Amino acid sequence: MAKPAAAFLRKLPSVDEVMRDEALAPARDRFGRTAVVAMIRRVLAQARAAREFSAEDSFVGRVTAMLEAEAQPKLRPVYNLTGTVLHTNLGRALIAEAAIEAAAIAMRNAVALEFNLGDGRRGERDELVRELLCDLTGAEDATIVNNNAAAVLLVLNTLSRGRETIVSRGELIEIGGAFRMPEIMSRAGAKLVEVGTTNRTHKKDYVGALGPKTGLILKVHTSNYRIEGFTKEVGARELAVLAHGHKVPLVNDLGSGTLIDLARFGLAHEPTVAEAISEGADLVTFSGDKLLGGPQTGFIVGRRAIIEKLNKNPMKRALRVDKIRLAALEATLRLYRDPDRLAQALPTFRLLARPIDEMKETAQRVLPTLEAKFGTGFTIKTVPCTSQVGSGSLPVEALPSLGIAITPAVSRGGGRRLTVAAAALRELPVPVIGRIENGAVLLDMRCLVDADGFIANVARLTLPEASDALA
Ligand SMILES: *Cc1c(COP(=O)(O)O)cnc(C)c1O
Repeated sequence: MAKPAAAFLRKLPSVDEVMRDEALAPARDRFGRTAVVAMIRRVLAQARAAREFSAEDSFVGRVTAMLEAEAQPKLRPVYNLTGTVLHTNLGRALIAEAAIEAAAIAMRNAVALEFNLGDGRRGERDELVRELLCDLTGAEDATIVNNNAAAVLLVLNTLSRGRETIVSRGELIEIGGAFRMPEIMSRAGAKLVEVGTTNRTHKKDYVGALGPKTGLILKVHTSNYRIEGFTKEVGARELAVLAHGHKVPLVNDLGSGTLIDLARFGLAHEPTVAEAISEGADLVTFSGDKLLGGPQTGFIVGRRAIIEKLNKNPMKRALRVDKIRLAALEATLRLYRDPDRLAQALPTFRLLARPIDEMKETAQRVLPTLEAKFGTGFTIKTVPCTSQVGSGSLPVEALPSLGIAITPAVSRGGGRRLTVAAAALRELPVPVIGRIENGAVLLDMRCLVDADGFIANVARLTLPEASDALA
């Protein structure tokens, strides 16, 4: 690069000059001297490298703007208008208020986490939710780990290390984000024995695979896909009999798992944990932040003798849950004691069961702001659409919903303008995340509950000049 001309360099202020500028006082108060000096140096270096700086440019303005941009938390709230209620990339379940309060208390205080208040001795953290879990699932015992992937890992490592785990080929799942059953299996030290075919697995396939090296039979709920047509699977009840006949446990990985029948909320029946236990599974694993509507957790419920073995595995210590999540979890599980009020108390069910009329009302309220902001370059209208549960729960279940479609007014160059519209929504102070469908940015109203906040947010939307001028 050419050496900056001396005249240009002379125009640049010094760090001290910028620092002494009174206009920088609010930034100095807010971000502290060290951060401000560092940012001035950066902005000066940029100006020097780009050789673009005129006497009118405000260094203070640039420095303040960059400090503010950097002060934005990286983990920012967004409007999830994707229509996927439990969106893994957007943090899955929203936590119930009661659970948020419990977590906040646990964060601010010392808590009796592993301390028995009765006799003053050391306690066990799982004890806090064991009884609740056993009541709600009918299981003898329960243990809690970081997430369901960890639950599966711990089970396989404890019961099948150096031994074989039998799984149907129709159930060798991959869950988004690199949870693949065969890989978890090998990391756990278990040998995978696949039986049957993708679409059909028979009892005789399991019988043929059972042997002295079998550690367990694993049944996996195919939570994010469904095999339809010419299919056959062996039910959990039958598998339990088979497993017990060979003195090995049956483990049922339910994935999402639910503690109550979802028919209550007009959803399709999803096997409940209690059902899986009553069908004879020795262990059932499931997630805390899918349909259960709590914080990220993995549950293992089932026979006491086996749970005790899991708890003795040193891996358990590496996978344990902290006090914040345990507090939120206990409060969430308590809500299940009163199923009649769950639909109100638990955001996940509130959103899944949200009446269409309420979504229509929200759409009508936010429509004028969107119309005003997107201008003549786009048509804005409400359209029927479908939401989904997400996180691999009830994969083929489509929930009738209502969306706002933002469609480029002309078809030429429409694709690019669609991208521009979606990007403008993502750039808002609270980013708005929709989905692209039928040549439109679709904003599903199901998870939009704060219409006023949304309107104030969208009022800040700016589209690049060109996208409007095209109309
Ligand atoms: C989601 C899921 C998992 C992984 O659970 P996480 O809580 O995301 O770790 C494992 N098995 C099945 C069947 C699942 O659906």
